[in-house]
Amino acid sequence: MRKKIVAGNWKMNKVLDEAVALTSELVNMAKDEVRNDAKIILCPPAIYLTTIQKYIEDAPNFALAAQNCSDKVSGAFTGEISAQMLQSIGVQYVLIGHSERRQYFNETNALLAEKVNTALSFGVSPIFCCGESLEQRQNEDYIGFVKNQITESLFHLSEEQLKSVVIAYEPIWAIGTGLTASAEQAQEMHAALRAHLASKYGAEVADEISILYGGSVTAASAPELFAAPDIDGGLVGGASLKSREFTNIIKAR
Ligand code: 13P
Repeated sequence: MRKKIVAGNWKMNKVLDEAVALTSELVNMAKDEVRNDAKIILCPPAIYLTTIQKYIEDAPNFALAAQNCSDKVSGAFTGEISAQMLQSIGVQYVLIGHSERRQYFNETNALLAEKVNTALSFGVSPIFCCGESLEQRQNEDYIGFVKNQITESLFHLSEEQLKSVVIAYEPIWAIGTGLTASAEQAQEMHAALRAHLASKYGAEVADEISILYGGSVTAASAPELFAAPDIDGGLVGGASLKSREFTNIIKAR
């Protein structure tokens, strides 16, 4: 039985007081909502991780993710945050390969493979993001494109390592645009990605990997998306910044 996950990626939003207020509200509203098999993962800006951690201490179904980490272990890399640092403060997850990082910081599949390795070597689980642009969806083999992102950044992993990875399919055309993929479009991709994992690791392993959908998820669109057989929850941007809306998304999973 794979994990149901609803993750909120705050991106570069909120000052400290707002981040704390949002967390307290969420914990109050959502801590009883969550069945034992589900997880809520908050992805605040890294500077708030230790503070936010105190506010989720009594909510066992809440966990934290960083939005990024370095591919390097340590050293002279000014401004970077290492997976070992995340491990040392008890952060369990890290987003790797978000399309904004790929686009604005030129992160390639090969670099992301290194980040995945570094995170796993320090016991931090990657939430590996993948997805195609609108142009790719219209002109190319968009499923092949996303499968290739997975091949190039994850297929070097052992079966045991892969089991620590969560995958988030986020079509770029749906991020921040209000254009949610339909449940059929998302399910088509999720099923294809799971089959792709099965082709390398076998169906049993592929069945254990949570594949989240991201891209303009709202409380209105979540129920249908999350009901699809291969969609195991969501990675939510804008709607995760509002406690009521995000709680309603959590309830939908
Ligand atoms: P939106 O939900 O704002 O479209 O963002 C999705 C996303 O990028 C989550 O990582």
